[in-house]
Amino acid sequence: MPAAPPRRVVVLGGGFGGVAVCRGLRGYPGEVVLLDRENHHLFQPLLYQVATAGLAGTDIAQPLRSIFRGEPNVRVLLGTAESIDLARRRVLVRELTEPLAYDHLVIALGVETGWFGHPEWAQHALGLKTLRDAGLVRARLLDSLERAECAPDPAARARLMTAVIVGGGPTGVEVAGACRELARFALRGDFRAIRPAEARVVLVEAGERLLPAFSPRLSEKARASLVELGVEVRLRAAVTAMGPARVELGAEHIEAATLVWAAGVQAPAITRTLGLPLDRAGRIRVEPDLSLPGHPEVFAIGDIASVLDAAGKPVPGVAPAAMQAGRFVAGLIAAAGETREASRPAFRYRDRGAMATIGRSRAVFQRGPIELSGLVAWLGWLLVHLLFLIDLRSRLAVLLQWAYAYCRYRPGARVYSRPEGSPHTDR
Ligand SMILES: Cc1cc2nc3c(=O)[nH]c(=O)nc-3n(C[C@H](O)[C@H](O)[C@H](O)COP(=O)(O)OP(=O)(O)OC[C@H]3O[C@@H](n4cnc5c(N)ncnc54)[C@H](O)[C@@H]3O)c2cc1C
Repeated sequence: MPAAPPRRVVVLGGGFGGVAVCRGLRGYPGEVVLLDRENHHLFQPLLYQVATAGLAGTDIAQPLRSIFRGEPNVRVLLGTAESIDLARRRVLVRELTEPLAYDHLVIALGVETGWFGHPEWAQHALGLKTLRDAGLVRARLLDSLERAECAPDPAARARLMTAVIVGGGPTGVEVAGACRELARFALRGDFRAIRPAEARVVLVEAGERLLPAFSPRLSEKARASLVELGVEVRLRAAVTAMGPARVELGAEHIEAATLVWAAGVQAPAITRTLGLPLDRAGRIRVEPDLSLPGHPEVFAIGDIASVLDAAGKPVPGVAPAAMQAGRFVAGLIAAAGETREASRPAFRYRDRGAMATIGRSRAVFQRGPIELSGLVAWLGWLLVHLLFLIDLRSRLAVLLQWAYAYCRYRPGARVYSRPEGSPHTDR
């Protein structure tokens, strides 16, 4: 019998899920094509440190080509997936003249910032999903202080020295804590007309408490730690409108040069080209084996997939879930010739716990009934984040920066390029 032609696996997205699939297909006899619109894999959990001048972008991002240099069957392509034609088994890519044909497809495109039905707010607030976003937040924070140093008007100065972070989940908590640490410690003594320690950081959360995925006790610890750092925490405060350097919370408004949006995510528009059931955030509802309904050759994994665990609870949008799904799907694809689709196992998410850091020496960790906070949780947080960074170079770079910043209170990434056409230049 003639040998079957080599099969092509196309993986859309080189984030945690997509990289895990490609790594899991090491030695696969067919071609693996990895498509991403960026040339790098990004370690999003440390993005807030790039935004607040703790780390450089290159410390937490790695070129996809270099990750797969030693794997000849993995071909990396730079391009933006625009639509998926499930019937003809091909993907339309903006930069390619020919559609990308596949035998197996893995959709691992993650999510993007969601504006709760107010896309116009994107003109005023900055999201935090990409390296570019983090660079913009850092530039806005630092540039506002530069402008405050020269602003003669006290009201303008107060506005320039105020940052509002919307969203009390782990990202909002981490950004708020790091902003206050930047102002209080890192910039101490650098200015003459202003005192950066007086910079105002307001964390706004519509719900009853911060970190709703954690226990009420840890939520309260996180709130108390932030308040101790000097963050103003506003609970039960929903954003009702936004304008240039202004956010409205019902009858109240706050003037702030820096507005950071960490409140919601939504799936990218490409999910709507599938013609399949989506959840409220536009995520693809998948079968228990992570395949698309009626398309056993196509899988969706990571943040873009709406997955229920064995108990019927949604699998959270976190890096370990995306990596576990990536490894699981790689196993199914590798065994495709031997296992019948009907007898595939269901994906099982193993929850290793959740953590969030609040600043120097403070963090919270929860795994089922186990709850940790303070220094122990922070040391655990450091270790886990170092271990999960993609390669040795990133681990060493981050370790060095953290050690220096810890000993000297001086993070080393405070260089920025002045943003052009800032929506609220008032000097
Ligand atoms: C600020 C922040 C902090 C976080 N902190 C934590 C944390 O502490 N712990 C934790 O477990 N999780 C954390 N997360 C969540 C975690 O990063 C995600 O769950 C994880 O990245 C999901 O992996 P993924 O592979 O689904 O998507 P991603 O890692 O987002 O990868 C998606 C990839 O697809 C690419 N892409 C998108 N659209 C296109 C397109 N149209 N064409 C081509 N390529 C495209 C992107 O460039 C990206 O490389 C955080 C996320 C953020 C934003």
